[in-house]
Amino acid sequence: MADCIFCKIISGDIPSTKVYEDEYVLAFRDINPMAPTHVVIIPKRHVQSMNEFENLTEKEQLAILHACKKVAELEGIDQTGYRVVSNCGPDADQSVQHLHFHVLGGGKLSARLA
Ligand code: AMP
Repeated sequence: MADCIFCKIISGDIPSTKVYEDEYVLAFRDINPMAPTHVVIIPKRHVQSMNEFENLTEKEQLAILHACKKVAELEGIDQTGYRVVSNCGPDADQSVQHLHFHVLGGGKLSARLA
């Protein structure tokens, strides 16, 4: 997608700090971290949000979940704990219109989800 920041990260037109990659997904450090560990996981194929999740193949869907767990392991937060979040639409303040999952951890997170 032209004009999509995350598609440009996938193509390499915008730099990112890669944490994990496979055939279907890319994981990179959030530019504005909200926790000591804050990684963003995206499918390589553009879909806008969770509302279009079914437009991904089952392999892509599973790869996203697998990547969340893998990133937690790679970052050393799998045993201390972490949160996986996907903001969808205006009420959730989704700011990048390319489906993504935040993996947050590395310290005690707020007990509040909203
Ligand atoms: P959301 O608010 O859920 O749409 O999350 C989008 C996230 O993407 C925010 O946490 C941003 O800090 C992050 N972000 C935006 N641009 C970049 C970038 N170029 N590299 C890394 N993270 C980014």
